[in-house]
Formats: sequence, structure tokens, C-alpha cells
Amino acid sequence: MTSSPKWPLSLNASLSTLAANTNPLVLRGKPTNFCPMTAHTIVHADDIFPLTCSRSGTCCHGKMVWLNPWELACLAKANGMPTRAFRDQFTEFGGIRLRFDGPPGWKGLPACSQFDPERGCRVHTGRPLACRLYPLGRQLLGKEEHYIFDGERFPCLVGCPEVQELPKMTVRDYLHGQHIGPGQVAQDAYLHTMQRLADGAFVLLIESGLAASGDKKTLRGWRANGQQHPKERAHQLPIEWLDRLLIPELTQSLEDPQSYADAHYNLLQENAQNAFSHNHTKDGLREASCLMMSMALHLGRSLGSDPVQLADRWIVTAKKHGAHE
Ligand code: SF4
Ligand code: SF4
Repeated sequence: MTSSPKWPLSLNASLSTLAANTNPLVLRGKPTNFCPMTAHTIVHADDIFPLTCSRSGTCCHGKMVWLNPWELACLAKANGMPTRAFRDQFTEFGGIRLRFDGPPGWKGLPACSQFDPERGCRVHTGRPLACRLYPLGRQLLGKEEHYIFDGERFPCLVGCPEVQELPKMTVRDYLHGQHIGPGQVAQDAYLHTMQRLADGAFVLLIESGLAASGDKKTLRGWRANGQQHPKERAHQLPIEWLDRLLIPELTQSLEDPQSYADAHYNLLQENAQNAFSHNHTKDGLREASCLMMSMALHLGRSLGSDPVQLADRWIVTAKKHGAHE
């Protein structure tokens, strides 16, 4: 027998921190390929590097730029388009990655869809955190935060050796000049949203009594969700939930990313409450738990996390609380 979960209002203290305690790894930057194990160099605020950009645009070619929902809305605004139209035309996987399908440029690599060979970035005022940070990236490991760059060689030296002739500056001054504050607030706020969506999946599995009933299919579903390619996950998520996750209908100002992300989560919570609070069958609970997990993982991917690692860690935590696979 399963009981009625009042998701997510009935989260108790221990369950509400389950997802957060799994210490997700988040890497941001503008990588050519995502690999959480890539060697990187940690930089410090007073370190001095050739951080004056030569504006050749090499790093706007052949890269991967992942977007959280606030960044997607900012990009659309900077481009003067409705968010849905921008999402459909310029992004992949439901809106979590910028398309790089522009004309080939540096090394024959395709340009970012927002790159203009004459003018540079078309969405400069709304560019995402990864672009503001580059050549640096931001790494969060639990509560530890570091600024890093990929590899051991300063990335700009690869495509723009001329930076050695330009003024050098400290990491602190560079980051200040890039106005990274709002982007970081948004990233951290959506990381919290990811954890709360995962908490919803925990509640629907554990607090509902589904796990105690011997169910094994839900954790298998979580694992399969983690292993999906983002294209497949975006395709499998019901379109209304994909839209709620990535292009929310909000009136909050983009100037305040924390309020925007909070309002977004409240809307998701309300949608989930309406959708799931009346279906207490095993199949219904399993489906709802997998949906919440899938959304948490897709959002995690948009933040630079590795969904395979996230799902693995959350499955281990669920098993410690009585779930089976
Ligand atoms: S690689 Fe570095 S110097 Fe070259 S365009 Fe990008 S940020 Fe500027
Ligand atoms: S959004 Fe702008 S800065 Fe970022 S990769 Fe695209 S063109 Fe370059």
C-alpha cells in the first residue's frame, strides 16, 4: 500500500536535504567538450594573466555553451525575441545549449549562432555566464568554489597568442569587469532548484511508501534518465513540462535573478502539486518521481553537472533510505 504524498509540501527536514547532500559537481566555462575529469588549473583572485581579450572571436567557435532558464531569457531579450522563439531557433535540447551552427571560422569550426563576423557577439549585453567567464570557468564542489581554466596552458594562448602583447590583469579585476554577479546568482539559484526538484523525486519514491512497497522500477528509471543523451531526455520529457522547466511564463524582472528563479520554482511546485497530488497508484507515483528526476537532471545538465554522476549519487542516497533497484 502506498500513502498520499503531499508533494512537496510535506517534505520533512531529513528528506528535504537528501538531494543537496549529494554534493553535485558543477563545472562552468566554455569548453569544447564536457568532461568532469578534464585536468584544470585553479586560479586565485590575485593571480595575473593576459586577460585582455584580443576580440578575434576564436572562442566563439566550436565551443559548448550551456544555458539555465534565466540565461535563456536574457539571451532572448538581448536578441529582441520572445524566449520561445529564441529557444526554438537558436538552442538545442529544449533550450539548455546554444547552437553553434554559424559559418565556419577559426580552424574551420562552426561559429556560435549569435556570432557576427563583423560585429562580434550579437547578444553581448545578455551573454551567458560561461561567455563572461571565459577563458576562466567556475567550479562548485559542494560548498567549495574555484575559478579555473581547462588544462595547464592558459586557453587564450592557443587561439590568440597576441594576448601576450596586451595588458595583463588580476583574476579579480577581470571578473569584476565582466559583471558576473547576476549570472552567478542565477547559477546558484538554479542549482538549488535542481536539488529541490530531485527532493520531489525522493518524496514521491520514499515518503509515499512506494519504496517500502518493494518497488524497483523507479530507481531503474532514475538511472536510465541519468544515462540519456540530453537530446533524448528533452524529447522524452512531456512538452508541457519541458516548457515549464525552460521557458516559464513569468513576469519577474530579469534584473533580479534570485527572485526570477524563486518564482520559477514556485510555479513548478504549483504545477507538480496540481498534477501529482491526486494520483497515488504505484504507477502514478513512479511516473511522477521519474519525471521530477528527469527535470532535475536536465536542469543539472544545463548548469554544467554530469547527469550520470548526479543520478548515481542520488540513487545511492535513496538506497540508504530504503529504496531498491
Ligand atoms: S580566446 Fe581569449 S583573447 Fe581570444 S577572443 Fe576568446 S577570450 Fe578573447
Ligand atoms: S553568446 Fe556571444 S560571446 Fe558567447 S559564444 Fe556566442 S557569440 Fe560568443
